[in-house]
Amino acid sequence: MGSRSNVGRKAVEEILLDNKLIAPENLALARKEAAKLDRPLQQVVVDMKFCDKVDVLQALSREWRNRAVDLAEMEIDGDVVKIIPEQTARRHHALPFAKEDSVLLVAMADPRDFFVSEDIHLRTGYEVQGYLAMPEDILRELDKVYGIAGNNAAAELLKSVADSQAKAAVDGLDATGIEKLVEKTDVTDVDASAPEVEKIVNAIILAALQQKSSDIHIEPFEDPAGRNSKLSIRYRVDGFLREANFQVPWSFRNAVLAKIKIMTSSMNITERRIPQSGRIQVMAKGSPIEFRVEIVPTVFGESCVMRILDRKAVQVDINKLGFYPETQQRLLALLAGVGGKKNFGLVMVCGPTGSGKSTTLYACLNHINRPDIKILTAENPVEYNLDGIVQVQVNPDLKLGEDKCFDFATALRSFLRLDPDVIMVGEIRDQETAHIAMEAAMTGHLVFSTIHTNDAPSSVSRLTEMGIPAFMVASTLKCVLAQRLCRRICADCKTPHAPTPDEIEVFKVNKIDLPAGGQLYAGKGCDSCGGSGFKGRCGIHELLIIDDPVRAAVLRDVTADGIRTAALEKSPQKMRTIIMDGLVKCLSGMTTVREVMGGAAEDNADKKK
Ligand SMILES: [Zn+2]
Repeated sequence: MGSRSNVGRKAVEEILLDNKLIAPENLALARKEAAKLDRPLQQVVVDMKFCDKVDVLQALSREWRNRAVDLAEMEIDGDVVKIIPEQTARRHHALPFAKEDSVLLVAMADPRDFFVSEDIHLRTGYEVQGYLAMPEDILRELDKVYGIAGNNAAAELLKSVADSQAKAAVDGLDATGIEKLVEKTDVTDVDASAPEVEKIVNAIILAALQQKSSDIHIEPFEDPAGRNSKLSIRYRVDGFLREANFQVPWSFRNAVLAKIKIMTSSMNITERRIPQSGRIQVMAKGSPIEFRVEIVPTVFGESCVMRILDRKAVQVDINKLGFYPETQQRLLALLAGVGGKKNFGLVMVCGPTGSGKSTTLYACLNHINRPDIKILTAENPVEYNLDGIVQVQVNPDLKLGEDKCFDFATALRSFLRLDPDVIMVGEIRDQETAHIAMEAAMTGHLVFSTIHTNDAPSSVSRLTEMGIPAFMVASTLKCVLAQRLCRRICADCKTPHAPTPDEIEVFKVNKIDLPAGGQLYAGKGCDSCGGSGFKGRCGIHELLIIDDPVRAAVLRDVTADGIRTAALEKSPQKMRTIIMDGLVKCLSGMTTVREVMGGAAEDNADKKK
């Protein structure tokens, strides 16, 4: 701690001696212990009961001319603590405990350290006023705010695991070969019921929740030489895969998979040759989180994908999906007055896989849901349960006699006998489903569905390609919402910049006004976004409303181009394309031009090659 001490200021041990707080022989013991544990000396002398905490604080505060605070006695606001990113706070032993206008009051283990104050100032923009506090008290307050051991919980858990059985298992590997390894790593050896295995699985799940990851990928990669075999753990965060920051010992691979199977309570633990799927529910901070688990055998053993169905993470509130206010108003106007067969027709959402189509549909259903209207859904699978809505999971593999199965079309047909007001059908991808959805929409039902096209006008032509006559589409379809997800710029490191010539060109081509002196934004990368400059995602949208001019275009010419031109030019609403919507959101600092143009996705594809 004293390594960066300023000239003329005393180091901790000098202060302890000069103030006669500790006998020299005890100081020697404490110094050794501090070096061994790599912990600040002032904490060690207190922990070893050589000194009283308050005496130490007072002496240091007097000598260093910094006011001291006793955090244990204070009520601390978590929002203030979070002004400094967690990793920075932990690295520097620094805890902001109050702020006054532009000044941040920060408790630090060593407030003399100019570099720490400067780093915090640069990251937060606040003037930093340092206060002295005990290192351990600072860490304890950080744990209170961020949870025990914070971001590194997974790594910490695994560290403790590595010390015991895992380490023993790894050490058991020697040159005598793989056979021994295989033997040693049988489920019967590293037992799935061993507490270490449970710790590992918990750590894997915990890390996923902390990163707000959507799926966990657990895959074995075996090195024939037996040296670099590894159980790869990756997390999908904001659409991209990230490696875990910890390693699971190779010898644990079967036990981990077995433990996951046991947790589903539906999978066969001894069967390792066929794919299996199931569900796991865990409790996190008092609320249940569900995972859909798929286990698939690979050449190196079983691999597993766990998809998180965290109901709280799903933004089923339509106000939180990042709609441009005008777009949202128009969409909701089309959904108004449902019930009593007064509002009917087909509402479609389109976009590529993973563009958040079902989340938008759920948000729409939630918005119109009332006790007096009846809503039925046919989904494959049912991903989130919605209160007050009857949800049915279709299963095309389930045979219902000769050549019938329980698919979307069958579900829809049976729905019509139940007299609903609103029907949601997961996806329209064949003629039969399209036909029944159309019929339902024409006979007084509001029908929601998704279709797999990239823009709204193409959805209309796709329906006609499926054999639905243009007049039927024109009279039944209310609107098509096309959407895509862009990564949202991290709020903690968002920085404005002048548009580049390329960016100016993009705005020009898409006819979006870039005001003179207008700025765009990007994230520099910081602790809270893992250096990526992005945190979370936001939707960009294109709402095609089938009004009179568009309807006329559909009847005249069902090509996507013809419909698009009518929507952009003739429709009184003047449709905004998905790119236009995205560029407007760039101006407001939500995302970047590169994200909107899909550049980030291309980059990622390039990397994979
Ligand atoms: Zn950031």
